[in-house]
Amino acid sequence: MWNQTIFDKYNLLYKIKSTSKSLASSLFHKLSDKNQLIIHNFITSEERLFYKKNEKFDSVFFELRTRCNSKCSFCAASIQNEIRPDITMKFDLFAKGIDYLSNENYDKRIAFHVNNDPLLVKNLHEYVAYARAKCPKAWIQILTNGKSLRNENGYNILKAGIDELSINIYEENRTEETPKNIINFEKDVLYKLYDKKNVLGGMPGVILKKKYPTYIKYTKARRLVDETLSNRAGSAPNKKSNKTKPNLGFCSHPFSQVNITTNGDVSQCCADFYFNNKMGNIKHNSLNEIWSGEKFTKLRENLNYSNRKENILCSNCDHFGINKLPNSFLKRQLYKLLFINDE
Ligand code: SF4
Ligand code: SF4
Repeated sequence: MWNQTIFDKYNLLYKIKSTSKSLASSLFHKLSDKNQLIIHNFITSEERLFYKKNEKFDSVFFELRTRCNSKCSFCAASIQNEIRPDITMKFDLFAKGIDYLSNENYDKRIAFHVNNDPLLVKNLHEYVAYARAKCPKAWIQILTNGKSLRNENGYNILKAGIDELSINIYEENRTEETPKNIINFEKDVLYKLYDKKNVLGGMPGVILKKKYPTYIKYTKARRLVDETLSNRAGSAPNKKSNKTKPNLGFCSHPFSQVNITTNGDVSQCCADFYFNNKMGNIKHNSLNEIWSGEKFTKLRENLNYSNRKENILCSNCDHFGINKLPNSFLKRQLYKLLFINDE
């Protein structure tokens, strides 16, 4: 009875929210291309400015294995949609990528997801331990759907030195119980290794590390397995036809991310699911060379000019183009209201 009431309440709120967003979004689509771009430029201006001042990537993602074990209908890595061969990155190649970062005294994010679940790599803790030893200042994040989290691998990655464990729990509806394996991990491992007051959520990782070096960031988010999000440059299985794609410009992904898949290829962004537009390969070039290479530079130049048309993936992509909500109240509200199709 109680569960049913919560379920009805969530569903009603969800419906109200998505209906008002759909309305606002369809109004936005009725504007001319020029006006859509003006609004988009306005909302994205803070991030554009930020990346003008910060020209170096702040997140390096290693896709250690091309597999996931969830059924998210919006994702080409889901069990029912996956067509990639199942490949795991060789440790030596991973070490090469980490060594580049180590030489730079890298102190930003290192993570193990692109379009995959990191916990499907059995010896993940060995990769983490290497990154920890070589990049002591980096923020090491594990983002997972939590399905393969067990006490043993959870313990191993914590001991190997991660700074953050974030779990996206994908569920059919918003009232499902927290999965037992996650509850067990919290009880038997997390809160045995860390006092509750040292387990923090919320704060951005890098800030947390500087302020509270002995703490761990741990978050759980509830997400729906069958949502319709951005079209991921055309790869989202549940959004193949996107005729009403809005006219968008700037996108911050190629200003902040380096995504590396199992054979060392670097893509233009995480939405390039099949690594079709390679920026380079870490077998042949350092991350710095790839980052400041002609292809990446040209892509960023075009996006800075709000031009997605030169790039086949960007021109087919409805990702809004910002990594975090704008600080300005007006921009934030506009973003929340108008754009329903994001990550
Ligand atoms: S969104 Fe994440 S959890 Fe879901 S199928 Fe894709 S990679 Fe897996
Ligand atoms: S617009 Fe889409 S494809 Fe282009 S860089 Fe952004 S996320 Fe990637």
